[in-house]
Amino acid sequence: MPEQEDAHTEVRPRTAVLTRGFDPSLSVGSARPAVFRSSTYVFDSPEAAERAFAMTAGKIAPPDGKRPDLIYSRISHPNAEILEDQIVPLEAGASAAAVFNSGMAAIMTAFFTYGRHQGTIVYTTPLYGGTTSLIHQFLEPFGMKGVAVASGDGAGLDEAIRHAKNCCMVYLETPANPTLTMTDIERAAQAAARHPDRPIVMVDNTFLGPTFQHPLLLGADLVLYSATKYLSGFSDMVAGVALARDPEVIQMIRSRRVMFGNILQPDECWMLDSRLPTVALRMNRQSKNAQRLAEALHGDTRLIRVIYPTLFQDADQIRIFRKQCAYPGAIFSIEFKGGKTAAFEFLRRVRIARNAVSLGGVETLTCHPKTTTHSGMTAQELADSGVTDGLVRISVGIEDWRDLLADFEQALAAVG
Ligand SMILES: *Cc1c(COP(=O)(O)O)cnc(C)c1O
Repeated sequence: MPEQEDAHTEVRPRTAVLTRGFDPSLSVGSARPAVFRSSTYVFDSPEAAERAFAMTAGKIAPPDGKRPDLIYSRISHPNAEILEDQIVPLEAGASAAAVFNSGMAAIMTAFFTYGRHQGTIVYTTPLYGGTTSLIHQFLEPFGMKGVAVASGDGAGLDEAIRHAKNCCMVYLETPANPTLTMTDIERAAQAAARHPDRPIVMVDNTFLGPTFQHPLLLGADLVLYSATKYLSGFSDMVAGVALARDPEVIQMIRSRRVMFGNILQPDECWMLDSRLPTVALRMNRQSKNAQRLAEALHGDTRLIRVIYPTLFQDADQIRIFRKQCAYPGAIFSIEFKGGKTAAFEFLRRVRIARNAVSLGGVETLTCHPKTTTHSGMTAQELADSGVTDGLVRISVGIEDWRDLLADFEQALAAVG
């Protein structure tokens, strides 16, 4: 992978995100990108139009490393291209990106690019609810087979991949939501590489990426994000991103995006682009806050357990965490001895943290997964993945952690 090694060794990601991928001369000298809201683009000549269409259709190759001329904004537009070029340096090992109007749009487009009739997708559970529905309600009726393996069962995942017939995709979400159970990405990628069908390995990296976990360096082929979460970081937009080591993979996905019409719009691209330079700052602060809170609440007599990577007990989970995550991240879960009643009372009592789904924003949010984000799961799936009545998920923001701790302690005291 020589090209992207250059991209990542010249300067470090936090510098590259501010210096690469945007040419002020193309925005009348503006230090930050302008917004280009045009739906269509004027050609220099009929020949240029003919060439742009031929390049976009893949009939002729664009000149070295360049993109085809702009045609129409469902295909691509300047703000999408600026955002895609500026996000690449943040994802270690990536050479290209494609942006979408939601995380689900990115995942759906990747599935419909690599899925095939009677193919098998092997995936870890639990997955994000929308992704699980996509597999059951779209891929399976289209004739694909879904094979689920519990997160953390490395040997089970190896076996499932080995036995999968016509295997086209391996899909991992690690850490899992809301139990934070980790999957060894490198091990899964090695199992996929041994399979004669060479399935593509996709990782939903929303919880720890791009700052703390780098799946492409561990052998994954495609990284997917809900940019609604940490990448945008302010709970004020919905977006998705796909990034790959091989630019061909992104080219294939972009060609589907043209058909589906799910590219991220110019204003949203501009907003997300402006958030990129602070992703690492925000995530570092959020992770430090979460670690302080989780470790302070650990051992509280009203709780069965606090789930957080630095508090893992299982030797294999500790090994995976140490091997593939730079920091533990900003999500933790607490499980109440008093079940749903205690969990609901806690949610009613917190004052700084707000009761809302979603995560990754600068403000702290709490929710009760079993009755909200995970309510689509069957009783068996809930039990298998440890989503119990007493479980509350907390997405930690950038507030002063001492204020958050005081807030959680007063809410816990009220639960009794
Ligand atoms: C939110 C989320 C998604 C879906 O993303 P949207 O932007 O809401 O479409 C997918 N995966 C994970 C892990 C998420 O948290």
